[in-house]
Amino acid sequence: MITKCRIAIVGGGLAGTATANALKTFGVDAELFEAAPALGEIGAAVSCSPQAVKALWGLGARERVDAAGHRSPGEYTRNMQTGEFLEFRDRFKLAEKWGAPYYSFHRADLLDALASTLLSAHIHLGHRLVQATQRADDVKLVFDNGRTVHAQYVIGADGVKSVLRQVLYGDDNPSYTGQAAWRSLLDARDVPEWILEPTGQTEWVSPGAHVRAYYIRQKKLVNIVTQQDTGEWVEESWNKRGDPQEMRASFANPEPRLKALLDLVTDCMKWGLFARPINDNWGNGRIQLIGDAAHAMVPNAGQGACQAFEDAYVLGRWLSSGLEPQEAFENFRRVRIPRVHGVQRLALANLKFKHMKDLDAQKAALAAGTGSMHGKNDWLYGFDPVAQWNQMPVVAEQYADPVVGPAGSTTTNTTTRPATTTSPAAAY
Ligand SMILES: Cc1cc2nc3c(=O)[nH]c(=O)nc-3n(C[C@H](O)[C@H](O)[C@H](O)COP(=O)(O)OP(=O)(O)OC[C@H]3O[C@@H](n4cnc5c(N)ncnc54)[C@H](O)[C@@H]3O)c2cc1C
Repeated sequence: MITKCRIAIVGGGLAGTATANALKTFGVDAELFEAAPALGEIGAAVSCSPQAVKALWGLGARERVDAAGHRSPGEYTRNMQTGEFLEFRDRFKLAEKWGAPYYSFHRADLLDALASTLLSAHIHLGHRLVQATQRADDVKLVFDNGRTVHAQYVIGADGVKSVLRQVLYGDDNPSYTGQAAWRSLLDARDVPEWILEPTGQTEWVSPGAHVRAYYIRQKKLVNIVTQQDTGEWVEESWNKRGDPQEMRASFANPEPRLKALLDLVTDCMKWGLFARPINDNWGNGRIQLIGDAAHAMVPNAGQGACQAFEDAYVLGRWLSSGLEPQEAFENFRRVRIPRVHGVQRLALANLKFKHMKDLDAQKAALAAGTGSMHGKNDWLYGFDPVAQWNQMPVVAEQYADPVVGPAGSTTTNTTTRPATTTSPAAAY
């Protein structure tokens, strides 16, 4: 069967459904094609910082997002072994400063919130893209169920292993970062309050590892997410079951709160973290990549999905601005690439900081306000996608793209960008 459509969104994860919402809200006709038989997300949480909440509000999902999100007053950072207090980030105060809350969601709740208003006639499930050909007047999309769609324009939201990315750039596989993650959800009724006192959100750091735990779903669940340096190669999979005993053994001599928390884990997932070198390969011609398909990053700034929500809003605005879609795509890349490159570098810096081997240096960095990403990143959280969707972003100098001057001198600039090739693994 061959059908036609104007704009095809390939991939119905957080990036794809957010974009479908944005296009619907801004009156742009689009259809969504998802490989899975149903839209769904894994049993885990995702945190969303204020500027990305503004994007979600702006793309037409405010009420549903507010209903699904949990607000924590703030996050404590402690030493993983001694329990020593290291830092408190007051999220209510920061939310006031930035004009929108920090939210933590169960991923499935957020995806439901984004998918619930989309017309079922515009969502095509069980459509795994296997081939795409960019032609003079359209893009031919071939799906594994035998269907062929001729789309005038395509938005690739098909995740870190994007087929559309491969079509455009050949074998450009993400590389293993040397990091493994564990994830688990606990019934909050099983978690004594003293463990996550007093705000219900704690992060434990130690050389080469960190653990975060916080409430989601109106405090009905506690989400645990960890990250550790490991020499061992770990498979990249969203569905690989882990061994709770192995998870506990990954964190040596945990302080009493963390030990009590980890002892409650009976079910967990484990996977390796993969990312690509920072690059400008975000699409060309009739195909635009967004979300992890464009800019998979290490999760240490909590910004992978947040940047996808900004993508969704900004792309929706450009596509409804009256420009031809290819011009809209070019403008989207012009304003988005420098910002996301900055966020990718911040995530790498934050990973390095959280896993520092020298604890005294880590404490000194916290005291000087140079270590933690929080509080010092007005350029990140102060961005307002709704008011600034068509403006060149401001990026802190240490994270901005370098620009090679005429005599080979290097400076930083947010408007001209050479391709950069910082590998996550190498940078770490
Ligand atoms: C441990 C960890 C913690 C994280 N925590 C946070 C956080 O707190 N905050 C945050 O902002 N980000 C976080 N992230 C990052 C965030 O999860 C990702 O950036 C985000 O999920 C990417 O969304 P996406 O829609 O681009 O990709 P995906 O979620 O991978 O979705 C891709 C979709 O495309 C579909 N698909 C794939 N291939 C095809 C195909 N060939 N044809 C059709 N459909 C296809 C898939 O089935 C899927 O539905 C975290 C990541 C990790 C690993």
